[in-house]
Amino acid sequence: PGSGPGSGPGSGAATPDAAPVLRLVGIRKSFEGTEVLRGIDLTVHRHEIVALIGASGSGKSTLLRTANLLEQIDDGQIFLGDDDISDPRAKADRIRSRIGVVFQHFNLFPHLSVLDNVTLASRAVHRASRVEAERRGLELLDSIGLADKAREFPDRLSGGQQQRAAIVRSIATDPELLLLDEITSALDPELVGEVLDLVRELGRGGTTILMATHEMAFARDVAHRVVFLDKGVVAEAGPPAQLFEHSENPRTREFLARFT
Ligand code: ADP
Ligand code: MG
Repeated sequence: PGSGPGSGPGSGAATPDAAPVLRLVGIRKSFEGTEVLRGIDLTVHRHEIVALIGASGSGKSTLLRTANLLEQIDDGQIFLGDDDISDPRAKADRIRSRIGVVFQHFNLFPHLSVLDNVTLASRAVHRASRVEAERRGLELLDSIGLADKAREFPDRLSGGQQQRAAIVRSIATDPELLLLDEITSALDPELVGEVLDLVRELGRGGTTILMATHEMAFARDVAHRVVFLDKGVVAEAGPPAQLFEHSENPRTREFLARFT
């Protein structure tokens, strides 16, 4: 089997020759003399869901942050589509507007209504009219069953509802790529499912996703490709079946053994 979609329910339209959306080439990053990313090569193709797994401290968040230009890299190149976004002349704001991001915590602005949260980027960055942005925002909230919460403040929502609102906010501007960093790690276990279901649905709709996750069952079920990061190096990457069932890499096996 190639690097295309498996037969799982998450299978989108990704094909091995789909265009690269994100391409990381030889990425290196140190903090205070410690190299955290040690030459990372990673490509995410259009419509692909790539799960980034690895122990705490292996560099997953740093990797996602470099892709969104929240960390400056020491070496390597980052391409979004055809654009070298690691070029110092690249406009970070313009680039970030092409990428949706959801973190583990504190994604919604507490002082804005849920609807204003969802529409903020389309109004600020993309200059959509308020009417058009709100129409689209309400449609998105309706699609996740939260239309009735549109005028509430985020603290009136459950953690799962907040993360789902954060996800639809991140796609409100139709980004080319969605970066998700352990978006269910802070949730009560009973709220994890509804958030993962939304990610699964986006994947089915063709959204291109790079997600750091500890949800191994989800990665196995939904990701087209899994990348195992070990101490700042891609130790193994391939279809879920390769890593979860047939890995011959002792590091991968040892890491996965902790989850079963
Ligand atoms: P993961 O998301 O896989 O848990 P991180 O990317 O958060 O890993 O962290 C990788 C390593 O980089 C850790 O040792 C962490 O302490 C270190 N690190 C991350 N961000 C910073 C920072 N801003 N300053 C110093 N060290 C950092
Ligand atoms: Mg992290």
